[in-house]
Amino acid sequence: MKLRAVIFDLDNTLYDYDTAHGTAFVKLCAFAEKTLGLPEAEFRTVYRLVMEEQITRCGGAYAAIHNRMIRFQMILERIGRPILYAPEMSDLYWNVFLDACEPVSGVRETLETLRAEYRLGVGTNMTADYQYRKLQKLGLLDLTDFLVSSEEVGAEKPERKLFEVCAEKAGCPAEACLFVGDSLSHDVRGAQGAGMRAVWLSRQPGPAGIARIGSVPELPEFLRAMGRDEV
Ligand SMILES: [Mg+2]
Repeated sequence: MKLRAVIFDLDNTLYDYDTAHGTAFVKLCAFAEKTLGLPEAEFRTVYRLVMEEQITRCGGAYAAIHNRMIRFQMILERIGRPILYAPEMSDLYWNVFLDACEPVSGVRETLETLRAEYRLGVGTNMTADYQYRKLQKLGLLDLTDFLVSSEEVGAEKPERKLFEVCAEKAGCPAEACLFVGDSLSHDVRGAQGAGMRAVWLSRQPGPAGIARIGSVPELPEFLRAMGRDEV
């Protein structure tokens, strides 16, 4: 079946999440030390514990587990400090994060090329608001035909439901969609489980039988080769 849509994961696929998060987290640590009197090592520990508690409390992988406002509020509650700091921490985190958010090299040009032939979407585990802000900051929102967030769907990758909604919005069967992402378990296996084709974005070689590209700008050539194989 001819491919009609290309759907991207967002974090660590269209931009470097680890760098943006790391930069924002350093600022957060400085805030915790200065304003809350919490040394960095303790802040990192409580942050990790609260992340785990967010998941346990929700009973699984719901978009709310990614909500930083809730996470900061839970940290403050746990360390016995006023929740009035939560909005300040959230603003600090996201302002620095979005500022550090840069598209991976050649991504805009690649999307512009692909858009001539395919519907382009984003399928992501996160609340919608900040994924919109990220795409806006990356300058990619005008090239995105549709967005599916786990908040909207009530299910997270690798659950089938999120991919099904992607195909629905793409307006074609799952087999006519290609999913691109950095996570083998969430993006690649998840998409394949829902009947989509998938390509793993990784500089490291992976398991046999898994299609792989080292960077987003390799996609047009990958798609041409895929088309040739199918003829
Ligand atoms: Mg990712």
